[in-house]
Amino acid sequence: MLASELIERKRDGEELEAADLRAFLDGFQAGEVADYQMSALLMAVYFQGLSTAELTTLTRAMIESGRRLDFRRPGAPPAVDKHSTGGVGDKVSLVLAPLLAVAGVRVPMMSGRGLGHTGGTLDKLESIPGFRTDIDLEAFARIVDEVGCAMVGQSPDLTPLDGRLYALRDVTGTVPSMPLIASSIVSKKVAEGIEALVLDVTCGDGAFMRREEGALALARTLVELAGREGLAATALVTGMEAPLGRAVGNALEVREAIDCLHGRGPADLEEVTLALATELPGVVREGEDREEARGRLSDLLRGGTAARRFAELIERQGGDPSVVEEPDRLPAAPVRVPWRAPASGWVHAVGARQVGLAAVELGAGRRRMGQPVDPAVGIELRLRPGDDVEEGAVAALVHARSESDAHRAMDRLGAAVRIGPARPAPGSAALRWESRRVRYRVTPQGVEPIG
Ligand code: URA
Repeated sequence: MLASELIERKRDGEELEAADLRAFLDGFQAGEVADYQMSALLMAVYFQGLSTAELTTLTRAMIESGRRLDFRRPGAPPAVDKHSTGGVGDKVSLVLAPLLAVAGVRVPMMSGRGLGHTGGTLDKLESIPGFRTDIDLEAFARIVDEVGCAMVGQSPDLTPLDGRLYALRDVTGTVPSMPLIASSIVSKKVAEGIEALVLDVTCGDGAFMRREEGALALARTLVELAGREGLAATALVTGMEAPLGRAVGNALEVREAIDCLHGRGPADLEEVTLALATELPGVVREGEDREEARGRLSDLLRGGTAARRFAELIERQGGDPSVVEEPDRLPAAPVRVPWRAPASGWVHAVGARQVGLAAVELGAGRRRMGQPVDPAVGIELRLRPGDDVEEGAVAALVHARSESDAHRAMDRLGAAVRIGPARPAPGSAALRWESRRVRYRVTPQGVEPIG
């Protein structure tokens, strides 16, 4: 097989034979296919897509590129995980993992770092003083069994092919490709050795899939691909027009997640967390419906049980558990500058993408791969779509290293927030997502609108 010939065939829309595609992928891992050739193939896939057979070949090559764990054990509580396709202010995993653990399932969660304008769970966790996300797989398994959940980064021995492809995609404009996202997520989750997966497929301005059709198609692809690989998966399509919750930035998001774990978090964060939790086996009890289970889980939050479990998890992973009761111990930025509403009226949009980019501008995310992130900086939003606002009122608080950083971020906030003279129409897109974040459930049986 000539690598250049295979790239040309994909570029021209031909379906590749499984053996040829596999030889190309194996050649890449062996150093015989160059990064630039793989980048060209990824771009061809971005434009031409992959057939079901090609997607299966790619996903299996990723799974087989490393170790496979197995958390399934007869008689033990189900081992489950959640994965999001990415968002702004998305701190769901920080609340969901300890909540699922107190609900009686085991959560071996492998998370990622921020990508582009979106945040990453690992960066958020590492803003907790001492917290280690690079523990070895044996310690990881022990904590899962003893605490009910553990949260780590992708191990270098788990789907290393995904790790290399992901790094290339990040710098070649090929992240938002449905088959590439699907194979990346499903390969990692299958290699993790769990029994069930719930996917949060975000949709809107701050998501990789901006339109509902795209998000639904990605959700279907993910669920079907996971099913073909023997992993039961359900996807929820959730709104990411405005950031989730009010905090964007690592330590600020941990603080908001802790509020939610004490039952006093923002309603949209709790809504998405509880909806995802009740899709997993072992969470909804016999004789209960999802609504009743959500009520019970919400009580667990209000009673402080999930918060205590989070403190336990932090302690076992080397962090300072006292942040759960004293969040002021989290890193804080030296400069806090209010951003004031530029006009009176009604908020029509708080564009998640620009808010995410404002956070990156402050140092909460990366401009280049491998760059360290600043745990303390970020944005606290004081308004949401549908609110009325007076000119000059504090609309956001910018936490920054310097005044000049804060002013650069504020330019982005100016582009993110749209204020109009009239109340937004009830059916407007931003308000529809705002009033109810969870829109569709996608299972192997089909798509079901929610709400
Ligand atoms: N999350 C992943 O793990 N991979 C992607 O490609 C996108 C989101």
